[in-house]
Amino acid sequence: MGPVSCEKDQKVEKTPEEWRASLSPEAYRVARCGGTEPAFTGKYWNTKTAGIYCCACCGAALFDAATKYDSGTGWPSFYEPSTPDAVAARDDMSHGMARTEALCRRCDAHLGHVFPDGPEPTGLRYCINSASLKLEPSET
Ligand code: FE
Repeated sequence: MGPVSCEKDQKVEKTPEEWRASLSPEAYRVARCGGTEPAFTGKYWNTKTAGIYCCACCGAALFDAATKYDSGTGWPSFYEPSTPDAVAARDDMSHGMARTEALCRRCDAHLGHVFPDGPEPTGLRYCINSASLKLEPSET
């Protein structure tokens, strides 16, 4: 047996049936099928609680609440991931738009999209569906 790798580096892979069984219908539709929740309807669009936003599918840390800001869009918006490799990006040409999709690096969950109109210091806006997130509040 070789050395055990750090758990956070291991890919999480499940079948669609397994994901469906472990997620709410809304989280399954958004995170596993590339859906989008309507603006101003998600659980976290206006949340200001301190903590870490984790992947609703695999629990990986994705965004620190300290980087969340009010974008006015009705979706939780962050200017950077909690670690540089937490969130993957890929081109998304669907719906007649050239966009950059944001995914959980660990389990490939669809999170939302990244736009180049965010605040300093990154200038990026990670526009994320609440349904793909689970907030772990800080201990107070
Ligand atoms: Fe994940």
